[in-house]
Formats: sequence, structure tokens, C-alpha cells
Amino acid sequence: MELPKFKFSPNAYELNVFEKVDGICSCCNENRNLKYTGSFYSEKEPDYICPWCIENGKVAEMFNGVFNDYDGIENYKSIDKELLLEVSKRTPSYISWQQEVWLTHCNEPCKLIDYADTKTIEPFMDELIDDIENNGYEPEMIKQYLSKDGSLVGYLFQCVNCGQHRLHVDCD
Ligand SMILES: [Zn+2]
Ligand SMILES: [Zn+2]
Repeated sequence: MELPKFKFSPNAYELNVFEKVDGICSCCNENRNLKYTGSFYSEKEPDYICPWCIENGKVAEMFNGVFNDYDGIENYKSIDKELLLEVSKRTPSYISWQQEVWLTHCNEPCKLIDYADTKTIEPFMDELIDDIENNGYEPEMIKQYLSKDGSLVGYLFQCVNCGQHRLHVDCD
């Protein structure tokens, strides 16, 4: 069966938030072999979340939870509510040290491309310079030490409208 796709996280299956584990989804009760292991904020914790129940919003509805916090979405007050709901309730999260941040551009949430290290950001330096200089960390630190799984981690986003790349940086 083809896996569901996520508009704002097109590479979700490569971000280490799904694990190949057999089980029964706590939401749809189907036998599944891909379990979501990323963050999900809810009062009661489901044992097993399958990608289909993320994509159709059912697990968020059933457990009244979110994958990505509303207020972690950049400038969320100026973003259409439907789009905020898609990011918070129907989009898998990613692995981070601090609370997840979801960057936006052209008044829409960006899509998350990948974790980013110094090599990842090199070709987009012109587009990313503003984010590198204004995210609270030393720009030189980012250019030298950014990694995909170390203590200074980069997250590469891209605008779904104009294609502009954006960078979020997180530290333990
Ligand atoms: Zn399910
Ligand atoms: Zn844009």
C-alpha cells in the first residue's frame, strides 16, 4: 500500500520519526508495519500511531492532540487557520532538542525538507543568511558546527509558494 504524503513534510519517512514495527494502530485498529515515534502532545498517549491516521487527522481528533504545537509555528497569528491545523494536527513532527518550530514564508507554513548540517546549507547560503544571522546563535558557530544529529542541529525548510529556503537552528 502506498504511504500517505504530507504537504508540509514531504520527506517525513526519512526524518527518523517512523519505525518499522508491526502492530495495531490505536486509532484505526488496522494491522500496520510503520509506527510513528515522533512527538505527539496529548493527555492520553496512543500506543501505536500509523501514518494514515496522521494524514487524515483522525488520531489528532480521537486523542485531542497535536504533532506540532500551534504556537511553535512562526507568525502563526498571520497564517490561515486551516493551514495551522494541517501542520499541528495532520503533519508528523521532527526530532528536536527544544520545542519544535515550524517556519513560514509568504503567509504559509513552509515544507520541512531535511535536517541540515554545514554541507546542506552551503548551496543556499544567500537565501539563508538572514536566518543564520538572526536566530540567536553565533553565525560563525552555525557555519562551522551545524550538524544533523549533534548538539547544534539545523532544519532546512522551503517555502511552498516562492521556493525560498529557510533555516531553523536548535541546540541542546
Ligand atoms: Zn491508523
Ligand atoms: Zn515564499
